[in-house]
Amino acid sequence: MTIWIATGNKGKAAEFNLLLKGHQLYFLKDIPGYQAPEETGSSFEENARIKAQALKKQKPQEWVLGEDSGLAVPALGNAPGIYSARYAGPDAKEEKNLILLLENMKSFEDEERVAFFISHIVVFSPLGEEYSVQGKTEGSIACKPKGDKGFGYDPVFIPRGETKSFAQLGVKYKNQFSHRFRAVQLFLSEIKKKAP
Ligand code: IMP
Repeated sequence: MTIWIATGNKGKAAEFNLLLKGHQLYFLKDIPGYQAPEETGSSFEENARIKAQALKKQKPQEWVLGEDSGLAVPALGNAPGIYSARYAGPDAKEEKNLILLLENMKSFEDEERVAFFISHIVVFSPLGEEYSVQGKTEGSIACKPKGDKGFGYDPVFIPRGETKSFAQLGVKYKNQFSHRFRAVQLFLSEIKKKAP
């Protein structure tokens, strides 16, 4: 299958390349001058759909995938949530977002450090059928960043049952247990159900 993926995030692209191994993938970088739409939705699902619909306009005959993801901390009212990429400001770098998160959680202990990642995927088939699925990983937020693999909040996210961060556990671990892995698996099983 050939799939166009509506992301310009290199970390996500690296994960999709492994998660959808065997498929021919294209990304926003393959469309020179592509203007990504504004993420005006109020949920991961709405933003994933906005991304997929915008790319579908450019590639109407293709499979097109939009993904919106982020980290939610219940003790912060589920922040940063859909604002994960712009938590410290509209053009904030990933490191700044992470530092702000740790700052806002500095007095938090035990249960207050519980967090989860969401990955919502909306896919349009060449015929325009929509698939909408969501994956979740539960865990907690470490007090300090650790590890140099992955991207975004990976250095502070410790999946439940582990003692190391996503950034220490590495891409191989993430691609077996992450929110993105789960969302991709759900999508693949949905299309298998339709065309076994
Ligand atoms: P999006 O590109 O609008 O979906 O932004 C998602 C943001 O959430 C990213 O920029 C990261 O900061 C964060 N994020 C999403 N998924 C992950 C992940 O798997 N690891 C670490 N950070 C993530």
